Amino acid sequence: MKFIGAHVSTSGGVENAPLNAHAIGATAFALFTKNQRQWHAKPLEPKSIDAFQRNCSEFGYTPERILPHDSYLINLGHPEEEGLEKSRKAFMDEFQRCEQLGLIYLNFHPGSHLNQISESQCLARIAESINLAIESTRHVVAVIENTAGQGTNVGFRFEHLAEIIDRIEDQSRVGVCLDTCHAYASGYDIKTEAGYADTFEKFDRIVGFSYLKGMHLNDSKKDLTSRVDRHESIGKGTLGVETFRRILQDDRFDGIPLILETPNDALWPDEIRLLKGFFAEGGA
Ligand SMILES: [Zn+2]
Ligand SMILES: [Zn+2]
Repeated sequence: MKFIGAHVSTSGGVENAPLNAHAIGATAFALFTKNQRQWHAKPLEPKSIDAFQRNCSEFGYTPERILPHDSYLINLGHPEEEGLEKSRKAFMDEFQRCEQLGLIYLNFHPGSHLNQISESQCLARIAESINLAIESTRHVVAVIENTAGQGTNVGFRFEHLAEIIDRIEDQSRVGVCLDTCHAYASGYDIKTEAGYADTFEKFDRIVGFSYLKGMHLNDSKKDLTSRVDRHESIGKGTLGVETFRRILQDDRFDGIPLILETPNDALWPDEIRLLKGFFAEGGA
């Protein structure tokens, strides 16, 4: 089975996310558990947590269909002590909020070296940040996202993801989310049939499908190896619809949240319908 949805709004409270997901025909969703552009947030209110869980269970959103995303401000590989500490504290808070909501994943971008430390040093810092968050919580799985490699972001090679995972003490608490736009922009040619086969063979060999906990389904405004992170609506970008048909008909992507982060939310119901159609025509 494929779980298909979008990164929906929590305007008015986290409890609105499952309602917004249901309204667009989603069978999965992503959300921010706090304002993603601010460092601090009020703790979640018990009545908001209750309503979130009630709405999720009413519409069948079990925890494995929900992929919360952390704040964009956090840099788990920050080269400076102060920035690193601030990020680690905020990341731990994000972990705790997920646990309070009964969620099992937290999706995040690994981090940036800001040209002050090496890629490898940055990856080691990120791993240590994840270890600290895991130690201080009970069960949430840290889901690392591949990046487009824009600026000084690390995580744009499968080897980077593997290097982080290697350093995690409890590997049952770490996973990966693959973003199709980021993969293509970073140089993985998933657009052609041969490139698609080759990319996911590499992913399996270097990281392993057992770590795959979610996908972000985005078309790309920019070309292969542009290393620019600009999402486009499905079929309107440089990737095109065929890549998404292949994914929806590939059973290696069963049972995980497949999340749209495409720019025009008015198109989400149509995009979800299109993706569901690809799955149905695959006959699986
Ligand atoms: Zn993404
Ligand atoms: Zn992106």
